[in-house]
Amino acid sequence: MRVVFIGPPGAGKGTQAKVACLRLGIPQVSTGDMLRAAKVEGKLPAELIAQMAHGASGFLLDGFPRTLPQATALDRLLAARAQKLDRVVSIEIPRDLLLERAVLRRIDKRTGQIYHLKYNPPPPDADLEVRTDDREVVVRNRIDIYEAETAELLPYYEGLGILRRVDGVGGVDEVTERVLQALGSK
Ligand code: ADP
Repeated sequence: MRVVFIGPPGAGKGTQAKVACLRLGIPQVSTGDMLRAAKVEGKLPAELIAQMAHGASGFLLDGFPRTLPQATALDRLLAARAQKLDRVVSIEIPRDLLLERAVLRRIDKRTGQIYHLKYNPPPPDADLEVRTDDREVVVRNRIDIYEAETAELLPYYEGLGILRRVDGVGGVDEVTERVLQALGSK
């Protein structure tokens, strides 16, 4: 199964992607860093292509593509391998909740585990770090950029009939249920 998760920063993509990948037995390709490296519109990061080539059983792209040129480039790449995306899950959540989720996000440096100071508190022995782009002013800016960039993306995937919108408000388990349902795995 080939899946894309899209949603604004703090929507819960990383959290849900981990669970969905375990459930579906597919690798999670986290694209944040690659995306920052890939400056050219419509050009896919080489690292992404390499990781996708390894995922014989499929893959889950978490946070990529972000723009229409990237989406069409991805489709062309897959088409060249006689493949296509099966599902695009858009995790949707109001702006004020996004800010709270991102600003209180903490990552365990050693394990990569995602925590939240209020909703998913880390254990006392966790070695926590704050992502530098999770400061409130930066998060606001990232949400604005996300909205501008992805405006064309949702209608594109809707047109292909593979878009599923998932309500991201609620507890992690509750959202997981909706995500698995959207993936047809529930
Ligand atoms: P994204 O990958 O979309 O930026 P994350 O998965 O990193 O988002 O989640 C952002 C923050 O919100 C993290 O601190 C995470 O623990 C927390 N979080 C994720 N899902 C939920 C949820 N359903 N309810 C409350 N907090 C959540």
